[in-house]
This record gives sequence, structure tokens and C-alpha cells, in this order.
Amino acid sequence: MSETIKAVKGMNDILPPESATWDWLEGCVRSLMTRHGYVGVRTPIVEPTALFVRGLGEVTDIVEKEMYSFEDSMNGDRLTLRPENTAGVVRAVTEHSLLRDGGKRLYYIGPMFRHERPQKGRYRQFHQVGAEALGYAGPDVDAELILMCRMLWRELGLVDGRDVRLELNSLGQPDERRAHREALIEHFESHAELLDEDARRRLHTNPLRILDTKNPAMQAVVEGAPQLMSFLGTESLAHFDAVRAALDAVGQPYRVNPRLVRGMDYYNLTVFEWVTERLGSQGTVCGGGRYDTLIEQLGGKPAPAVGWGLGIERLLLLLQEAGVAAPAVRPNAYAVVTSAALVPVALRTIDTLRTAGVSVLMHAAGRDGLGSMKSQFKRADASAADYALIFGDDEVARGEVSVKPLRNADEPQQAYALADASDWAARLRNA
Ligand code: ATP
Ligand code: MG
Repeated sequence: MSETIKAVKGMNDILPPESATWDWLEGCVRSLMTRHGYVGVRTPIVEPTALFVRGLGEVTDIVEKEMYSFEDSMNGDRLTLRPENTAGVVRAVTEHSLLRDGGKRLYYIGPMFRHERPQKGRYRQFHQVGAEALGYAGPDVDAELILMCRMLWRELGLVDGRDVRLELNSLGQPDERRAHREALIEHFESHAELLDEDARRRLHTNPLRILDTKNPAMQAVVEGAPQLMSFLGTESLAHFDAVRAALDAVGQPYRVNPRLVRGMDYYNLTVFEWVTERLGSQGTVCGGGRYDTLIEQLGGKPAPAVGWGLGIERLLLLLQEAGVAAPAVRPNAYAVVTSAALVPVALRTIDTLRTAGVSVLMHAAGRDGLGSMKSQFKRADASAADYALIFGDDEVARGEVSVKPLRNADEPQQAYALADASDWAARLRNA
């Protein structure tokens, strides 16, 4: 036998039974998005490398060290597997002039790629749900986006304050950040001996990112750094206050975290994260904020925007930690077919039942045929179906099928006419 081929490190197969939990979660997300007026968008997984370099900023973790970039061997184009999807959505919206007739509320679910050290909650291929509201300037949409997450947590069975918690900050506008930046550089320069190599390198390129350090040795110097909040002008403060007022009005608790800066350069004004204590250093489940300059930066007609991205793997780990399980998916019925000659009749009836909304698992033949009744009933039990549909010679000769309850001992077995399966289908659905 030849050597088997394994999946790429940090890239996971999503298999049953976990894949059913993914399906359930994605269903919850799609329902949530629809109720908020967000519609799906699907952009390519591969984009020109320049999109991310220009979009996310050259001195970011993602662009500096996490991107899967390669040259198209056919034409030499520089391409990258998308590490996030905000830049791709902005590119698509600009390329197709989607904002021509007003704002757009969009969402996506899909794989992202980052070359990180794989560990629990951190993978090289991972999946995000993202919501982006493009063309809206007001703090109302910021609040709506944050509350949309709250609704998702609630519907999944997570508890605010126990499983998740909201952190909020304002990054102000570019000119306010510039003034803050000068003050930051001054602060860090006067404590140069306390900076690690990463911080020293970023001191003059992107000092704000130093605040995002995970190095415990640098916490003190970061703690004492000047805060951006005190550099914000009245408009920025008003925007922030309006977001806070909206959250207060609906009773959504949050902590203002002045150190919250997010990993991408494109953010301004509102930034937020939904964090958890349950996943160690992979504690950010969802993060987002405003990016009013990104569209213009990527060559589009200037328009404000705000959005968030949520890590599906982290959310699933969190659900597990919180003891939340997806509802079990069971077939309504399992079809037992006693001889091959009856398969066409059985298939016709099953088809009618499925059309009427009944989920039916059909016993499938093996190399040695359909197998004994006993072995078929064993499968029927294992499937956790509510009923066995018995297509036997006698039943079919009478133009009937026997419906045997598998889980409710009090319910009698009954025969139904094959010819009008659509009439009794509903009984199988409502067990
Ligand atoms: P972190 O600080 O944990 O590296 P990040 O700031 O890089 O996260 P974002 O770029 O904001 O993350 O992505 C949004 C969400 O996607 C994160 O909050 C997280 O839930 C998820 N995520 C990011 N990177 C990974 C990864 N490598 N594996 C799994 N999930 C991830
Ligand atoms: Mg990261």
C-alpha cells in the first residue's frame, strides 16, 4: 500500500458528528442575518496580495507574517489566500459599484487562512462569520451590529457575563490618532529599555500596535502609555457616546477598554470585541469596528462602513465549554425493505413522503443484498428514527406499508395505503 496523504498542518477536516453542529450554527446565523436585513455575499478565496497589503496595513501581524502568498505560476501574479474578508468585500462592492443606490448590509460565512502556530482555537484554515454595513455613517448601525451578536449568543444559549463579555473603545479619527501617536512615540522612547524587539521595530512604524502586545513583560510600560481617548475631539466623542447610549438603553453591559486597538490598521471610531475567559489566550470570539477610510483607501468612492468578524471554531469551543449542544438531528423514519424486488415501490413511497417534508433514511443494500429483517431493524434503531417503514412482501401485496413506532411503546403499529402516502405523511413528522 502506498503512504497515505494527510491534511495540511493547522487545517482541519470537519466531519460528522461535528459537521452537524456546524450546519446548525450556520443555520442560526443565516436566520439572524435575515432578520436584521443582512444579505449574503461571496467573494473569492484568492485575492491579489496588494488588496491585503493596502487594506490591512503593511505593519500588521497578518501582512507581516501570517499570509499565504504565492505567485501564480502561469502569469506571475502575486496572490494571497484571504486572511480575512472585509478587504475582499470592499473590493467587490467597489468593483461592482454596489453603493450606487445607497448603503448595503452584507454577511458571509467562509474559510480564512493565516500562517499561525496551530493550537486550540487557532488554526491555519479557520472560518469566520462576518457582517459588514457599508455606506452608513451613524452610531446606530454600530450599535445594531453589536446587538446582533448579543442576539446570536442568546439564541445559541450563551450567557452574557458568564460566557461572553463586550469590550468597547473608540479609535477616533486619523488626525486624532496622529497626535496620540506622537505622544505614544515619546512615551515609548523614554522607556526604550523596557521594549521588546517587536515593539522597538514598530516604535516608528506603528506604535499603536505596541498596545496590543501579548508580552507580559511589557504590560507596565503599556499600562502607563498616553490614552487615545484624551486626544479625541467633540465629534468622535459624540459618536462614541451615542453608541454607548444605545447599548445602555437596551441594557447591554460593556467595559470601555482603552487598550483595545484591533489587529488591522483600517479601523476608526468604534471598535469592539466579544471576549471570553473560557478559551485561554484565544479569548476573542468576535471583533469589529468602523472602517470609514478603507473603501477610499482601496480606490473606491469614499463611504463609511462598519462590521465584525467572528471565529466559528472559537464559538464552537465556547459552546462546548458552556455545555451547549446542537439539537440532535434524527430522521423521522427508517425504511426497511425486505427484498430487492420491492425497492422500486419503496422508493416511490419514500419519494412522496420526502416531498411532503418527512425525513426518511432508506436502508441501503450491501454487496450481499439488503440483509435480514433483524439487521435492518438494528440499523433502524441505531438511526434514532421515530418510525420504521416496513416494505414487506405481504404489506406491499395488499398495497400497504407498515409503520412501526420505534421510540413510543404505547403507540400501535399501523398499516397505511401506499397510494396515498401524501395524506398520512404529516403523522410521521409530528412524532
Ligand atoms: P487574535 O488576537 O486571537 O489573533 P485577531 O485579532 O487576529 O485574533 P481578527 O482578525 O479580528 O482576529 O478575526 C476575527 C475573529 O476570527 C477572531 O476574534 C477569532 O475569533 C477568529 N480568528 C482569528 N484568527 C484565527 C485563527 N488563526 N484560528 C481560529 N480563529 C481565528
Ligand atoms: Mg491574530
